Amino acid sequence: MENQNLHDIRHSAEHILSQAMIRLYGPDAFYMAMGPATDDGFYMDFEPRGDFKASEEDFSKIEAEMQKIVKENLPIVRKEITLEQAKEMFADNPYKMEWLETITNRDEVITIYTTGDEFVDLCAGPHVRYTSKVKAFKLLSIAGAYWHGDEKNKMLTRIYGTAFENKEALNEHLALLEETKRRDHRVIGKDQKLFTLSNLIGAGLPLLQPKGMVIRQCIEDYLWEIHKNKGYQRVWTPHITKEALYIKSGHAEKFGDNIFRVQGKEEKFFMKPMNCPHHMQIFSDNQFSYRDMPVRYFEPATVYRDEKTGELSGLTRVRSITQDDGHLFCRVSQLEDEISTIVSIVKEFFTTMGMLDGYWVRLSVRGPTGKYLGTDEVWEKAETALKNVSEKEKLPYKIGVDEAAFYGPKLDFMFKDAIKREWQLSTIQCDFNLPERFDLSFINEKGEKERPVVIHRAISGSLERFMGVMIEHFAGAFPVWLSPVQAKIIPITDAQHEFAYKVMDMLKEEGIRVEIDDRSEKMQAKIRDAQMQKVPYMLVIGGREVESSSVAVRQRDEQDLGAMTINDFMTKIKEQINNKSLNLIK
Ligand SMILES: [Zn+2]
Ligand SMILES: [Zn+2]
Repeated sequence: MENQNLHDIRHSAEHILSQAMIRLYGPDAFYMAMGPATDDGFYMDFEPRGDFKASEEDFSKIEAEMQKIVKENLPIVRKEITLEQAKEMFADNPYKMEWLETITNRDEVITIYTTGDEFVDLCAGPHVRYTSKVKAFKLLSIAGAYWHGDEKNKMLTRIYGTAFENKEALNEHLALLEETKRRDHRVIGKDQKLFTLSNLIGAGLPLLQPKGMVIRQCIEDYLWEIHKNKGYQRVWTPHITKEALYIKSGHAEKFGDNIFRVQGKEEKFFMKPMNCPHHMQIFSDNQFSYRDMPVRYFEPATVYRDEKTGELSGLTRVRSITQDDGHLFCRVSQLEDEISTIVSIVKEFFTTMGMLDGYWVRLSVRGPTGKYLGTDEVWEKAETALKNVSEKEKLPYKIGVDEAAFYGPKLDFMFKDAIKREWQLSTIQCDFNLPERFDLSFINEKGEKERPVVIHRAISGSLERFMGVMIEHFAGAFPVWLSPVQAKIIPITDAQHEFAYKVMDMLKEEGIRVEIDDRSEKMQAKIRDAQMQKVPYMLVIGGREVESSSVAVRQRDEQDLGAMTINDFMTKIKEQINNKSLNLIK
């Protein structure tokens, strides 16, 4: 953690939490296991004993006791003891003992921290000096957690909390947590029927519902739209491959643990964990000349990676990952132009998504310690190309020395969503390794074979993860061009059904995604339902509208735009769709 003071406050808050629970429930109610400070708070793991059970309903009581300890302004004091003394002191705590048993050096100095004269914990610290320094804290939630995160171990109870330097900072953080919860893509995805997780299919393998697929298709179409005029060509690759490909590429060795294996009747296969070696094969089946360079392949393709079940979540941590992948094969002298074009694609895409504010870029270059593949000359040229583009395109970039991949330097793009959370999404990576491994070449002006450089690039990163990010960024209220349903037609009574259906046909004819709510519900209820689904426009049709061949237009943000002729509405909504406008009709 960057801020040491905040770290000490949070770690001390965790001690105060343990102390408060001992005061309330007695020293035999639970075993303290561990409790670190984290990037946004702290947690405390313990094993309840006997019939003790903590729940979120106890939080206010525990917080009140913590407040008392803060008020008492008890000193928090560091002490050094011997290993032997420590073992004596914590003899009846199996978790502390387990840790002490791992220490083989008998002379190691053990530190403990006491709070007043009633609480002591085995701890490396550091802490604040007095409990009164913990001015603003809050308990947040309770969950189960395996000891050492290993499901073979005992399930402990974990209390999450947070603490800040002052009340304002705490309140700001709590408001952000509320907002994060409101935007949770797993909840919105369910409410709007965008995607589904099925136990029969498995964790990390989300299924897209028709409405989710509409959004995905719009993104995919848009991505292709901004690539196709820049010399890219679509390719396609199968989902499984012989192991040999990944042994040759070197990925089997590096990635082996995360690869799904498929046993065929005669041969063993891998589910592909990436597309790069496949695209290398497409390239190498051609004898390109320098006049053909650069060659640019584009493929939104699903790859599979065996991530740990416990780390999977919604759309953002998955096992089936559809990268909007692309590989460019070019000469070293062409790197700058190609990278420049990719940067312009990245900028265009994220401007459209309303995410270009506050973005920054990490330019990862070689360092003195790492092992890097390829000649100094090529590295120098590639790094210079990336740097020149970063300057020319005015990218807000930071140089990460020694952060390059072993196979080449790269640019990684961090974007902020509507609530300022940072997401690493686009990437542009130079690669000198794969062209070597697969012995790729083209024929140069002298009639000789020349090795190309490969650029790996992804704009959205992965379509699944990006969709999760987008749902949270827009809080489910997508711009019109991405909305699965762009307009909802709401006839007030049965008498307007005929006209309402006619309006629906007219809109559909123009390619507008429209639904009708012809249930015999009250108009207000229908409007509310459409608003809940974040449908941008509700077209209310009563007797008056039928007579004047118009619709009364309401927006999901409750703005009432009044009556519009059907043509007028169509012109306006189509303009928004074509412009990929972020706003609704003003
Ligand atoms: Zn501690
Ligand atoms: Zn690649």
